[in-house]
Amino acid sequence: MHEKVAQPAVTNAILKRHGFHMRKGLGQNFLTDPNILQKIVAAADLSPQDDVIEIGPGIGALTQFLADSAHHVVALEIDERLLPILAETLADYPNTEVVNEDVLKTDLSALVAAHFDGQHTLKVVANLPYYITTPILLHLLRAHLPLHSMTVMMQKEVAARLSAAPGSKDYGSLSIAVQLVADVRTAFTVSRHAFVPAPNVDSAIVTLAQRYEPLADITNPDGFDRLVRGAFASRRKTLWNNLIVLFGKENRAAIRTALAAANIAPETRAEQLAIADFARLDTAIRAEGL
Ligand code: SAM
Repeated sequence: MHEKVAQPAVTNAILKRHGFHMRKGLGQNFLTDPNILQKIVAAADLSPQDDVIEIGPGIGALTQFLADSAHHVVALEIDERLLPILAETLADYPNTEVVNEDVLKTDLSALVAAHFDGQHTLKVVANLPYYITTPILLHLLRAHLPLHSMTVMMQKEVAARLSAAPGSKDYGSLSIAVQLVADVRTAFTVSRHAFVPAPNVDSAIVTLAQRYEPLADITNPDGFDRLVRGAFASRRKTLWNNLIVLFGKENRAAIRTALAAANIAPETRAEQLAIADFARLDTAIRAEGL
């Protein structure tokens, strides 16, 4: 077993030797607690049957642990200043590859086809850059990769939104977009003190297991997304008022008919609606030609 970078003294020595200064704007908070890294690997249930996409390897703290357990690891890192460090920390891990790209600009299907053999189960495991957690999750979900699961560290508040149930203050369009296609579980929470430097927020590890069948049959995902975001646009307003803003006053009659057809009262608020309710409303709205 090689020396792991995930120890405060080793991490600090590497950063100093390379004259590396963290860029806060890139969400650079590096994990230095090997117990947490071990728990992330356990939450991802990794085995040599698995291929892994990692987003944001930093100096390779998590990458080393992933490489110990999985078949092949491809890590996407935007900051080219980290490449010489990763070349060093991953030198003894031949089953790792670093790709110097912005994950949000990466064609993930092409990446998977180019870097993996298609014979292993594909998982995402990452300590995400928090400033773009939601865009990354949506980019991954919309890429329709043959993904088994994602095990990702994020800000605790975002984790709460992902797993929120109808009726709770955290329930919103993000909860619905994610729960439609994935079963969401918070595995454990992590104190800010497990990172160098410590971020201003605590974190949680969330596992998203891809559903074989989506929770509802949505034929037009963009239209559904627009409906859900419109319904939540002003949380204090009723569903009726939000839908009027979304579709326009001239469509009042059609909106009323669609709500009746979906068996949803106009004075309901979006946060009271389950995903199945939104799916019914979406079908009814489209039947009205909206
Ligand atoms: N995995 C390391 C760890 O756990 O210690 C570092 C995690 S750090 C929270 C997030 C990493 O994501 C940083 O290395 C940062 O440079 C990288 N990053 C930020 N924006 C990115 C982007 N758009 N695409 C790829 N990597 C990005």
